Amino acid sequence: MKKAIYPGSFDPVTLGHLDIIRRSANLVDKLIVGVLNNNSKSPLFSVDERVNMLKEVTKDIPNVEILSFSGLLVDFARQHEVQTIVRGLRAVTDFEYELAMSQTNRVAAPEIDTIFLNTSLKYAYLSSSIVKEMAMYGGDISKFVPAEIIHLVYDRYGINKNSSKEKGEM
Ligand code: ADP
Repeated sequence: MKKAIYPGSFDPVTLGHLDIIRRSANLVDKLIVGVLNNNSKSPLFSVDERVNMLKEVTKDIPNVEILSFSGLLVDFARQHEVQTIVRGLRAVTDFEYELAMSQTNRVAAPEIDTIFLNTSLKYAYLSSSIVKEMAMYGGDISKFVPAEIIHLVYDRYGINKNSSKEKGEM
């Protein structure tokens, strides 16, 4: 069984993340989305909230499982007998860090490979931080995050958006 892990903070999940999830789920038998419980960052959403949001937006993809993890990614991958790590590449700015990270992981766990999926062009500019900045000031985030979570992001900033187009179902 071919398994891969797509790790990240997903704070919150964006349409760019969802695009990588769908495309990588097509490449393997099982895709685990690993939500990082990182104490050194102070996230907008708790790890449980991030896991629940991801479960909601991926519920139509049968071979995806959402799990949280803390500690080393390679330990998490080994625990789940995963041979492949998936990361998304948006631009050259991602490249240096991602290359160093993947080489480090390779030293730590030579049996695990990292593969990179390029971003779909329409999401190349998109990041969780941009979503947060837009939402904080009441900007329209409907082109950035899945419909189901739009209101959760606004709620977190105490912003009341009542238009039905912008209100998700969760
Ligand atoms: P991290 O904190 O590990 O960078 P993120 O949640 O920001 O976690 O991102 C997780 C992964 O998704 C990373 O590989 C990142 O490069 C990728 N990613 C983020 N945004 C996009 C996007 N718009 N298109 C494609 N990949 C993306």
